[in-house]
Amino acid sequence: MKIMKHSLSRRNFIKKSTILGAGISVLPQILMGSNSSAISNGRIIFPRPFAFAVDDLGWNIGNNTGSIDKQSPYRIGIDRKMDINNYKPIIEVGEAVGTRIQSLFVLAEMDRENILKNYPTTTWQGENWDNSKNISDNQIEIMNFVKNQAAYMEFGLHGVGHEYWVDGKMKRAEWYSTWEDHSWSEKSMREHIQCFKDIMAQYGLSKENGHSFPESFVPCAYGYYWNPGEEYSTGKIMSEQGLKYVNTLFTYIEELNPPKGDNGGGFDNGVLVVNRINYGNPWYKLASLPTVLLEEQKSDIIETHWANWLAQDDFVQPDVTKSFVDYYKMVQKSEDRYIAKNTEQFSSQWLYKKYANVVEKTEGKVEIDNTKMPDDAYQNDILGNMVLKIKLKEGEHISNAKLNGKNIGVFFEDAGFGFIYLPQLKQKSYDLEYTLGNSFPDAYIYNNGTYNAYIFERINNIYKTKIRLYGTQDIVFKGIAKPNKISIDNKNITIIKEKYDAENNQLTLTLSARDMQGETGVIEIG
Ligand SMILES: [Zn+2]
Repeated sequence: MKIMKHSLSRRNFIKKSTILGAGISVLPQILMGSNSSAISNGRIIFPRPFAFAVDDLGWNIGNNTGSIDKQSPYRIGIDRKMDINNYKPIIEVGEAVGTRIQSLFVLAEMDRENILKNYPTTTWQGENWDNSKNISDNQIEIMNFVKNQAAYMEFGLHGVGHEYWVDGKMKRAEWYSTWEDHSWSEKSMREHIQCFKDIMAQYGLSKENGHSFPESFVPCAYGYYWNPGEEYSTGKIMSEQGLKYVNTLFTYIEELNPPKGDNGGGFDNGVLVVNRINYGNPWYKLASLPTVLLEEQKSDIIETHWANWLAQDDFVQPDVTKSFVDYYKMVQKSEDRYIAKNTEQFSSQWLYKKYANVVEKTEGKVEIDNTKMPDDAYQNDILGNMVLKIKLKEGEHISNAKLNGKNIGVFFEDAGFGFIYLPQLKQKSYDLEYTLGNSFPDAYIYNNGTYNAYIFERINNIYKTKIRLYGTQDIVFKGIAKPNKISIDNKNITIIKEKYDAENNQLTLTLSARDMQGETGVIEIG
């Protein structure tokens, strides 16, 4: 029997087939999460987050050479040598719609020093690993590009060689055996993590150079050793590296009793793991969007693979790129979804949708009960902004919003909606009051980027904000006077450019984060 990557043919077809064509009940969920509720007598919407994840970047050649006989990888399933042009469309889409797209990398063919020969379980060539035919300046160009485009592409972890080789025989998959339903040894898994780090370091992406381990992870072929609260699990060894966010398809590891539900998820030893579903675009298919309608998609995060974002030839690529841009725009226009700016924001909203209640008793007065948020959400800095949106009429804006009497200063408008970015909520209840009108707030951050802004407040004559910044991008402050002094408490955030528009009282700071995984800092403008 031919074994396809990510196919349903392996075993348990019935139990896995729940991902497609399940019964649909959408309407009552417009304001509801799985466990949360939102009752609105006004206009506030507590939307579900939306994000695409892109698997299998990093391969140098695209061809699938996987089969039972050859024992080599499936890769991307397209016949080409992958170069920088195959990365650009993802970044173009991210920039066009204001999102940092979670991109999951396999690094074996990026190994410039043949280190993987010392770890024979990582590749199909085992001890004879020889990657010399792939070594070129193109690799450096690609990895530099990915690093420099961290505002729009998140460098996430997928794997080293994608599968696990035992005496030259391929087993599926790298981080857990879904063929034989057992974990690989902790020692071996730690070696695989070290290999990934060592290959990153070959490109200068090391701790010494200020770069962190990835925050996001998709286990290859959904093989994840779910074992919360125990000494060893995939989450345990990943969390130690600083990893926070995982998405996978839980039906592949049912023997481990993972969280239930199409949009289910939970914490495994410090990392948040959520379910992800494929909605009809196969892993090898070029130019391919989900075929299941957005309203019928049950998981918040959506599976895609690299091939889906690419065209068969360069002249078609602009059309394919545009189709993804249009898809995101369609999401932003929908009543109950919105484009999460990055994985932290996505994951935060997923948690709020699961644990928080939002009730608008009368228009403009909203009660938020976040008392049920689990402690785990706070332990590794996993939880960030809550996002609410309001459908605006022609010429209407959110004029003001206060949380427990304190001004909120982070807003955005897009696709006919006003967006309110609340700070990280504690395990408490909050009162949110907002007013709509034809005016804008007095002073605020207009978050049209992919960063997170947690607060924006004025103390005496100093404006203060705390942000998590990715890559190089603009932060737009509206309604503030020309500053005399700007200071940032994190020296790894650099001011590239400062522009003040006196006519509109608008300050635009172009900032750059050193760590490709992001930098957090407090900015004071006085
Ligand atoms: Zn994969």
